Amino acid sequence: MSQLDRAALSERGEAVADRLRREGADLVALTFVDNSGVLRAKAVPVAKLASAAAWGVGASNSFDFFLCTDLITSGAYSRGPVGDLRLHPDLDALTVLSCRPGWAWAPVLKYDQDGVPHPQDARALAATATARLAGHGYSALMSFELEWIVTAESTPDDPRSATSGPAYGFTRISQQGEYLRALASILDEQGVAVEQIHPEYAPGQFELSVAAADPVRAADTAVLVRETIRAVSARFGLRASFSPKFSPDDVGNGGHVHLSIWDGERNLCAGGDRAFGLTPVAEAFGAGILDRLPALLAIGAPSVLSYLRLAPQLWTGAFRAWGLENREAPLRMIRGAAGQRDTAANLEVKCFDLTANPYLVVAALLFAGLAGIAEDARLPEPLDVDPASLTDDERAVRGITRLPSSLAEAVAAFEADKSLRADFGDELATTLMDIRRAEIAEFSGAGAAELTAALRWTH
Ligand code: GLU
Ligand code: MG
Repeated sequence: MSQLDRAALSERGEAVADRLRREGADLVALTFVDNSGVLRAKAVPVAKLASAAAWGVGASNSFDFFLCTDLITSGAYSRGPVGDLRLHPDLDALTVLSCRPGWAWAPVLKYDQDGVPHPQDARALAATATARLAGHGYSALMSFELEWIVTAESTPDDPRSATSGPAYGFTRISQQGEYLRALASILDEQGVAVEQIHPEYAPGQFELSVAAADPVRAADTAVLVRETIRAVSARFGLRASFSPKFSPDDVGNGGHVHLSIWDGERNLCAGGDRAFGLTPVAEAFGAGILDRLPALLAIGAPSVLSYLRLAPQLWTGAFRAWGLENREAPLRMIRGAAGQRDTAANLEVKCFDLTANPYLVVAALLFAGLAGIAEDARLPEPLDVDPASLTDDERAVRGITRLPSSLAEAVAAFEADKSLRADFGDELATTLMDIRRAEIAEFSGAGAAELTAALRWTH
């Protein structure tokens, strides 16, 4: 049975369309992130928004089987070229795009022709996971940190073509100050609360962080910020790459996720009696994630290229460990400054990158954390050194293992995790791994240079 109140959606759509006309928007981009982490889009004129909200716009089921190279693979749930879904813009998330005058943007929810939710809708899964957490009496705040490399459009593959300054150097801000200023002010106009922008370590690299929000909104914001960076870059004759590894010899782009668990107004990552002020619930949540990191990587580091980035001593967290403000730990406790911890304390998952579908990422983290809560899981001793500085024996004694060093290992870990698979539902879990395996086959034998070149602009 349809779960859509089409009359109410149509009425809302008309009201939103009126506002859009007043604000000068002519077209609305309707987007979803596919199973390979690529943002795909359709668009409707503002006059069609109400109809799209109520009835959706058509999209082939085969979008579930796209690889990041645009090849369409097959899988257990594939129907080949047959079948149509309906993409319904979420009017609550609709945003007028200052970065693309005349345009608005809305992420979609996917339904079938009968109005039944599509089992492969990543955004719906994120909402389901959030609701499940709420069912336990908790909420989560999350945010994605975006790193990207900016180059000159005329020589896009040269990471030093737009900025030549040193790592974290003010020179880079001097060179691209107007670009960064435009980016910050446009994001502000689009309702995104920028926390910080700074030059990063790799040549041409910058990072932008935003305020934490509820998980679905955090994932929406990750999409919006990325597309805004892309659009503003183009306006300045620049190009932005969010690839996990722009070039084989430089550090990569991360897509770290910050998260905190709340009981009403109380941040459960602070003021507790466990390590660094964690409460038992926050510790169990973090432990649920740490325990499952190998499987979670199939979601959070889902491309073949992800594993060129995820190597020791590049601040990506390649060994399974956690620690206080330890940048070599994939799970990093951030307490924040004394006096601010009630609001600032959070956990950061560092091993993920921006080839990930952010909706699947927030869903997977919530499911893993909830499993930790159900098990009353405990975190091991925190690590306060670089795990790469320890011997194999020392790591073994502390229970520190290397995280998957290939996508195939992460896929095997995900497939072995029955509970995570069940949380995702068989259709989505199976298809995601069909996609991963097809991308592994697609790039088998590709060297680092070929791989970095192939995925430099896909995500
Ligand atoms: N660029 C690093 C990465 O690939 C992260 C650097 C940092 O700690 O911000 O994740
Ligand atoms: Mg960074």
